[in-house]
Amino acid sequence: MQGSPILEIDLDKITFNTSQVVERCHRKGIEVIGVTKGFSAIHQIVSAMVAGGIDGLADSRMENIVELREKGFTQPITLLRIPRLSNVMKVVQYTDTSINSEISVIKALAQAAKQLGKIHRIILMVDVGDLREGVLQENVLDMAKRFTSFKEIKLIGLGTNMGCFGGILPSSNNLGVLVELGRAVENELNLKLEIISGGGTSTLLLIENEQVPAGVNQLRIGEGILLGTDTTNNRKIPWLHHDAFHLRAEVIEVKSKPSVPTGIIGRDAFGNIPEFEDLGVRKRAIVSMGKQDVNIKGIHPVDESLKIMGASSDHLIIDIEDSEHEVKVGGVIAFSLAYSGLLSVSDSRYVRKLFKGNCGPTTNTT
Ligand SMILES: *Cc1c(COP(=O)(O)O)cnc(C)c1O
Repeated sequence: MQGSPILEIDLDKITFNTSQVVERCHRKGIEVIGVTKGFSAIHQIVSAMVAGGIDGLADSRMENIVELREKGFTQPITLLRIPRLSNVMKVVQYTDTSINSEISVIKALAQAAKQLGKIHRIILMVDVGDLREGVLQENVLDMAKRFTSFKEIKLIGLGTNMGCFGGILPSSNNLGVLVELGRAVENELNLKLEIISGGGTSTLLLIENEQVPAGVNQLRIGEGILLGTDTTNNRKIPWLHHDAFHLRAEVIEVKSKPSVPTGIIGRDAFGNIPEFEDLGVRKRAIVSMGKQDVNIKGIHPVDESLKIMGASSDHLIIDIEDSEHEVKVGGVIAFSLAYSGLLSVSDSRYVRKLFKGNCGPTTNTT
């Protein structure tokens, strides 16, 4: 649609970021799987990751994985959300590996694999402190023993997730525990584990600081490759591009208005009671984009003198008083994206996608 918000994607920067991450990890004997859930697995971006030398792909949603297979991606794919008991057939059919923590689900995966004549690979998730998915450390050995009798299931490794629910940072300590547990499983069950999967973007800092314990040989990276940021460690990764994505939206009103509304304040469109600071009359712009299009908390104007005042479902209100650039009706305001912003716009049918790099600019509605 003419004038719709546009998500502009620089594919060359994604490829560059991927190759940088891959190179640094490979030097330490660590493989990198590219996590595609942050952008709804838009296939052009997946291809840019593949061009950067990724060792495999991973997503948390089966819908995205099925689509990747239908688009012809033949790379190994890992399912990154522990499978639903009701969906094990699809998981075995479309993925090579899934992460798991529940014996009932693993048993169902084994039955599905038997029916399909396949072997399904499993990474057993261990909770080293973040308290999202995973078996507690003291239960790992027992759990592993319980499913080695399933012929159609291959335990290929242990993994852990951090920085998601509890905000726990990866460290040589908690990753060391994971490696130790891996050794214990190998000894106890007399098998060799292929993979010790040591987390996502937040583990890259340990790689930079040479603090990843020997034995960790896989990372699952999304945010770093896409945005060059590491939210858990609250940093920009200095050796990556931070501007592979921009969001642009059209200005539909520019006026000077008081900074405090007049009348009796009730609730805003989302049921909250708004509060205002009186800064006098300020120049402000409305752009044609709102909470239905994007998580407003996950975007920031590229011009740092602009300030987002608030939004309703279809209108975003920006203070432009301090800007040195002229903002006018019909013009465009550009935003950079955080992970939550990217997550929301990538799947919005109201936001057009514009690809730069590789084979020149092309638009696509995903
Ligand atoms: C989302 C996710 C990742 C990727 O995390 P990033 O911080 O985006 O690199 C890795 N592992 C699991 C299990 C995930 O759910």
